[in-house]
Amino acid sequence: MKTNREKRLDKKLRLLKKQHDRCIYCQKLLTLDDSTFEHIQAKSKGGTNSLQNLVISCRPCNLNVGNASVAEKMRSLFFDQIRT
Ligand SMILES: [Zn+2]
Repeated sequence: MKTNREKRLDKKLRLLKKQHDRCIYCQKLLTLDDSTFEHIQAKSKGGTNSLQNLVISCRPCNLNVGNASVAEKMRSLFFDQIRT
């Protein structure tokens, strides 16, 4: 039986592998310590903790974007890029 901690770690490793160890937003290379979970669909909007609903980002990106959903964050990142 796995503990919750182990399950989290397991999920993180799988997501990191899927994203080639990079932040979903800034593409920075991540380590286990500076990576955080992001929900694609916010939990407040019925999103789950399943792998399909999670991506990994670095801490600064995670903090930057606050409570916006991943889709909103991607959109604002994109607009930031074409604005500059
Ligand atoms: Zn980042």
